[in-house]
Amino acid sequence: MLSVILPAYNEEKMIQKAASEIDRILTTERIDYEIVFVNDGSKDHTWEEIEKTAAQNPHVTGILFSRNFGKESAMLAGLAEAAGDCCAVMDCDLQHPPETLVEMYRLWEQGYEVIEGVKRTRGKESAMHRISAGLFYKMISKAVKIDMSRASDFKLLDRRAVEALLSLPERNVFFRALSSWIGFRTTSVEFDVQERTEGESKWSTWSLVQYAIKNIVVFSTAALQFVTIAGIAVFVAAILLGAETLIRYFTGHAVEGFTTVILLILIIGSLVMISLGIIGYYIGKIYEEVKGRPRYLISKRISGSARPDAALEQLL
Ligand code: UDP
Ligand code: MG
Repeated sequence: MLSVILPAYNEEKMIQKAASEIDRILTTERIDYEIVFVNDGSKDHTWEEIEKTAAQNPHVTGILFSRNFGKESAMLAGLAEAAGDCCAVMDCDLQHPPETLVEMYRLWEQGYEVIEGVKRTRGKESAMHRISAGLFYKMISKAVKIDMSRASDFKLLDRRAVEALLSLPERNVFFRALSSWIGFRTTSVEFDVQERTEGESKWSTWSLVQYAIKNIVVFSTAALQFVTIAGIAVFVAAILLGAETLIRYFTGHAVEGFTTVILLILIIGSLVMISLGIIGYYIGKIYEEVKGRPRYLISKRISGSARPDAALEQLL
């Protein structure tokens, strides 16, 4: 069975649509499936829509978070709850075309364990967005040592890969990169990002900046090395300037101006503060990990009757 996991945050208009689209395509292809909606603390009627859909379609399962925990947590919750032999994760705004699911499923049948959805085109977005996304992916690709510039969260994973992902202990996860990190027999499928038909993107520019910083820190220590490199650069400059000052002193041409002094204080001061900030951010993340809080809390579940555990629940 194929489990399709759909994280949903304020997607009331898309729930029914997504479920019927996926149902239509997978039924014609004769693929046994379940749909797992994860309602990530939506503020609209997403949950009611999920309940309605589940009542109509026995293949639909719903998980309700106690509040908004973010897409990464929603995807992991979906994977943890899914019962399929393979699990696909996709956006429920249908920007990830469900037709590609079939292609991915066929590759899985051929023995691939991780099938990555790769963006052929990025769809419509602003120039600012594209440039900053490009910069972020360049950095993260270096950290993971895999080209991530066209990576997406649209993936199909074999049960073994899912178990491997779920066994990772960290709280701060970056699904897109972790799915490459775990390895396994991997292949990719290209798809065109579709336009969103209903609702709006949940990402503001600021939230994307935060997302980028968080994931760079979560996935690499490169920023800490930047501190070291900056330190070395300043040290070299200090030696040169120090030498110059000493030479001037001994040759009787002592510097009169304070310009150098002021500049040095400014440069070193700001470098020290930036460095402390970076270290502080890492410590903050370590603190979060050490607390070991769960990635998400589930307040409610509904299982479609097509699922074995749902039948069991009714018996008990
Ligand atoms: N999403 C979520 N929790 C969040 C934000 C988004 O589960 O806090 C879901 C959202 O419902 C959608 C997917 O993540 O299914 C992608 O979000 P969106 O379409 O807003 O992102 P974009 O396509 O603009 O990158
Ligand atoms: Mg979207």
